[in-house]
Amino acid sequence: MADNIRQFPGAEVPEQTLSVERRPFGFCAHEKITLDEHRRTVKCTACDKVFDPFNFLQTEVHRLQDAWERHRQVRASLAEHIDRVEALKKEEARLKGRIKTAKAKVEPPIDVRNRAL
Ligand SMILES: [Zn+2]
Repeated sequence: MADNIRQFPGAEVPEQTLSVERRPFGFCAHEKITLDEHRRTVKCTACDKVFDPFNFLQTEVHRLQDAWERHRQVRASLAEHIDRVEALKKEEARLKGRIKTAKAKVEPPIDVRNRAL
């Protein structure tokens, strides 16, 4: 500071005691959750976001119900596909039998040794 500049008396800015905590940049999917037994809180391990325990449990219940419903639908679809594959295998065997019979009728076996042509 130059010698001819003096600080105005009484104009000191008070020390800043407030601050804003910045979250890490980027989206957090809150994939890993920690239950703090001491504070009885539910929080994200990655970003430390604290969740309301009831809302968290409710969300998890809905997620599990949806997963079980999708599981039930996939099993039903699988059973249906297995039935269709079995029906197609039977149809394939039936058609192969018909082709074999039809070929036997159209093309009599050629007996080359006895020259029966
Ligand atoms: Zn998170």
